[in-house]
Amino acid sequence: MKVPFLDLQAAYRELQEELDAAGRRVMSSGWYILGQEVEVFETEFAAYCGVRHCIGVSNGLDALELILRGYGIGAGDEVIVPANTFIATWLAVSRAGAVPVPVEPSELTHTIQADQVEKAISSRTRAVMPVHLYGQPADMEPIRQLAQRHGLKVIEDAAQAHGARYRGQRAGGLGDAAGFSFYPGKNLGALGDGGAVVTNDDELAAQVRLLRNYGSQVKYYNEVKGCNARLDALQAAFLRVKLTRLDEWNRRRQTAADRYLQAFAQIPHLILPEVPTQAEPVWHLFVVRHPRRDELKRHLTQAGIETIIHYPIPPHLSRAYTDSGAKPGAYPLTEQLASTVLSLPMGPHLQPDAQDRVTGAVRRFA
Ligand SMILES: *Cc1c(COP(=O)(O)O)cnc(C)c1O
Repeated sequence: MKVPFLDLQAAYRELQEELDAAGRRVMSSGWYILGQEVEVFETEFAAYCGVRHCIGVSNGLDALELILRGYGIGAGDEVIVPANTFIATWLAVSRAGAVPVPVEPSELTHTIQADQVEKAISSRTRAVMPVHLYGQPADMEPIRQLAQRHGLKVIEDAAQAHGARYRGQRAGGLGDAAGFSFYPGKNLGALGDGGAVVTNDDELAAQVRLLRNYGSQVKYYNEVKGCNARLDALQAAFLRVKLTRLDEWNRRRQTAADRYLQAFAQIPHLILPEVPTQAEPVWHLFVVRHPRRDELKRHLTQAGIETIIHYPIPPHLSRAYTDSGAKPGAYPLTEQLASTVLSLPMGPHLQPDAQDRVTGAVRRFA
């Protein structure tokens, strides 16, 4: 018996009747892009996040890029990003025409901190883009205060943090605007690509609505040079079903995380995720660190346990960013994390017996 990293078939099976009915409703409606289904989802997801606006878009990368473009951030501007993140955070900045300026994270929480951000601020800085990495909200209050002092926008990359809370407020309402991804493996996942921008900023919301649909509010009257970054009705209908289960599925992830934390409490060399008191993470990933990470990964593979490294190559060392000029050693903590992190199986359908096989195999390795 194998233990998969994430069981998306089980997720479909649990909701099959409702998802199939939602799909049939849209297919028979004759309306497939934007429209009422998307609008209802936007209203529901905005309410869930505790914000005024949600704009459904094509994916998480586009969500982040459209926020930047909506704020007029582009050529000649700098945006502060984590050095340790999925490359989409950086790509959104690059595609908007601005320059991503990386900062090292906290070693304990893997998220960026105000003191590191402050050192990276220049006269060109326009925004800071904290990532709620692995489902753990960044320490936003000091970042928000710093940004306010320097006139910067705070843009959350919330692609891994649907439902996470910081001091009681959900991710998506912790900055000026936030980008979500509904990639199938995310905590709120579509059955295809999808994403959303959420914000309390009326002007930004209107601008992103224009940009995602060819720059037009009225068909064929184009007010800005927009793009095609629309959410389709089928995905919106699937997301509406899955949104009703998000809190419960996040609770199951929390239960699985608690079981891991308990089982691994006394294992030498194994570093466990740290949760600060003001944060309620949603465990998109359960990431441990080990000095012999590659050996541990091989050992688990041989035991039939699937693991993934998030992420093996930090953006500054990827070939895509050779033009940044950053050499190995430029961001030592980020590089050390990249060589020691390992994500264990995690998800709402990870059964206790399967999880016991993971903890048993990790223990035997130690
Ligand atoms: C998934 C992800 C994205 C991009 O989302 P897509 O829908 O795949 O474009 C951006 N940032 C982070 C941190 C992510 O995990």
